[in-house]
Amino acid sequence: MANQFNKLSQGTIAVRGGLNTDEQYGSVVPVITPSTCYRYEEFAKPREFDYARKANPSRRLVEQTVAKLEGGVDAILTNCGMSAIHLISVALLAPNDVVVAPHDCYGGSYRLFNSLSQKGYFKVKFVDQSDPAALQETLSLYPKLVLIETPSNPLLRVVDIKEIAQQAHNVGALVLVDNTFMTPILQKPLELGADIVTHSCTKFLNGHSDLLAGILVFKDQQLATEVLWWANNIGTLTSSFDSYLLLRGLRTLAARVTVQQDNAQKVVDFLVNHPKIAKVYHPSLSSNLGHDIAKKQQKGFGSLLSFELAGDDDVMPKFLKALNIFTLAQSLGGVESLVCHPATMTHSGISAEARKTAGISDQLLRISVGLEDIADLLKDLQQALENI
Ligand code: PLP
Repeated sequence: MANQFNKLSQGTIAVRGGLNTDEQYGSVVPVITPSTCYRYEEFAKPREFDYARKANPSRRLVEQTVAKLEGGVDAILTNCGMSAIHLISVALLAPNDVVVAPHDCYGGSYRLFNSLSQKGYFKVKFVDQSDPAALQETLSLYPKLVLIETPSNPLLRVVDIKEIAQQAHNVGALVLVDNTFMTPILQKPLELGADIVTHSCTKFLNGHSDLLAGILVFKDQQLATEVLWWANNIGTLTSSFDSYLLLRGLRTLAARVTVQQDNAQKVVDFLVNHPKIAKVYHPSLSSNLGHDIAKKQQKGFGSLLSFELAGDDDVMPKFLKALNIFTLAQSLGGVESLVCHPATMTHSGISAEARKTAGISDQLLRISVGLEDIADLLKDLQQALENI
């Protein structure tokens, strides 16, 4: 990989990804390369790129930038976060293999593992990874893959990546960390022992809620090459136009993450003291599961938080209707503030029983705090709470 990034800090790497790579015109911003095929130099002599399902220049610039941000050797950009997790499952798992996943992982990942295991592609065990005995029991099945998602979605529970990765490696498993919520600005799973990092780039990495993409970042080149063979085999890859937009979104990653996180902390401080709020979940709170781990594992507490409203069932629709700035929509990590009701939105693909086991109540709301002025955000919450 190009060494243009050596010794630069995260913010600089994100801003400068792919700049000044155009040799033909010297354009500072890289060109978009929509071509599906590339001219051979001569008979049996392909260039760096030959057919765009396998690799293309626009995608490659994003892969190199995110690989560098995560401290990996290589990366594969896919057409959404779920296809990245699907790709790694297809590439690594065979029918008798076991995958261990958190019982409170993202609803789409839960549904994917569950439905594929029901079709016999592999076996899955969902476990509370903060419970050492339960985790040990699943690891005694010698899983091939252990997925870690921390902080978890939507309760922001934090588990110890270093500790779990060590235990998983002791039984020969590969460790995949979903770093969507933290981004490499706030957490570096490969440094903590993970083998692969995944993101829904749809979220913070792009940051503007206008494209879908996913990524796998690898510590080991051989594994990356094997998985790339599968990516080309299945055809899971991102378009040049979306790759270009994603690279543009990445340029502001560090600045966005920092300001959104500052805003979120002020929202947390406001909500924890409000009489109409029953409970707040955010890694900054000492009541949050894994708060002490978050303090050492993360460079910040992030801009996602969840809370339960006090009162009976009818307060929720009233509150949501009264909000003017926070938009009811099921994504996160964009510059705009969103609110989501996990039980009927992101986690509706999970049975009510599994939601209950994971602690996701029907009263729970998740907020992704954006870049709006914090005074306006607080005023919006204040007036909506007064309305219920
Ligand atoms: N992982 C996490 C933590 C997510 O929140 C999401 C989507 O919300 C995904 C993966 C899936 O990403 P995508 O929607 O880009 O397929």
